[in-house]
Amino acid sequence: MTGRRLPVDGLGAYLHCPRQYEFAHVHGLAGDDEEAVETRQVELLRTVICDALRTGETEPRPLANAAIARLAERWPERDDRFHSMAQRRHERRALEATIRAYVEAVGPTHARGVTQLRNAADGDVIGPALSLSATVSLPDAGEDENAAVTVDATVDYVFEDGPSITGVRFVPTLAPLGPLRYRSKWDGDVAELFVDHFDPDADRFEPDAVASLLETAVVLEGLRDLRDRLELEASTCRYVLAPLADRSNDAVDWVRETVETSLEVVDLTDVFLDHHTFGLTHEHRNRTVERRLREVLAAIVPGEFDPGPAWDRISARSCPGCAYAVGCADHVAAEVRFDG
Ligand code: SF4
Repeated sequence: MTGRRLPVDGLGAYLHCPRQYEFAHVHGLAGDDEEAVETRQVELLRTVICDALRTGETEPRPLANAAIARLAERWPERDDRFHSMAQRRHERRALEATIRAYVEAVGPTHARGVTQLRNAADGDVIGPALSLSATVSLPDAGEDENAAVTVDATVDYVFEDGPSITGVRFVPTLAPLGPLRYRSKWDGDVAELFVDHFDPDADRFEPDAVASLLETAVVLEGLRDLRDRLELEASTCRYVLAPLADRSNDAVDWVRETVETSLEVVDLTDVFLDHHTFGLTHEHRNRTVERRLREVLAAIVPGEFDPGPAWDRISARSCPGCAYAVGCADHVAAEVRFDG
């Protein structure tokens, strides 16, 4: 970590395994790049959708046409190695279908909200990758202003949504959310999942879902900062994820050469906020998640990267798919012990 700053995805790496965080974010070692194609697809689509939002179009067809026209301009830059021209044409049709699905699901509502916000406030609200940050005080910091860490995150655009401003981030899929995707409140399953993940006596290991809640805390704090800079202090803040590389809903007609798909966005605000903290602050906050965020950062700052008491869960769940397994002394030592 440099200058007490870290990217929000470092939290997810740390939750999967502190040693993984050390390899990626302290030593800067690149892992396996298996998701590169998916990542490039999201990068291209997030750019063309943001460009379409910037046109000010708010009706479905013109908005979709603006994004698809922009895709046509950018498409020649895409240099992925496709097996054939037919596959290349299919990939483009799949991206166009994703644009249409985005427009059908939320596009016009979000576009109107973006336009309202641009008219009401003086500031950039369309990305892609608008920077947000949250400065988090470490536990027991007292008056020590240096005992704080800035966590950097991004959203792709922000729109006005009734009493709220909402940050939207495009992601490949919603799969990492796990059960959060199907829940609408913090109390119950979600609170249990979160607490159990950190309980050394519980067998639960949910790094992706927990990381999403920590990320929500960071993004909402960053949005509150943006809201204040835009002089919209009366608004609350919300955080939405929109998947752009989820092929599970694709319907492909290979004879007619058509692709149709659908897209579902998830608002993480409702599973994040706890009503007690909301009652006290009138902000979308969660005291349990925010306290845990401070504790995780307090472990990262001094370099506590030993997998420690979570080793059994890490070795069973994180090591098998870890990009650093070949050079990882913890993993290799455990394998040797096992073989011996
Ligand atoms: S191989 Fe296992 S212990 Fe090593 S960094 Fe990866 S997850 Fe952590």
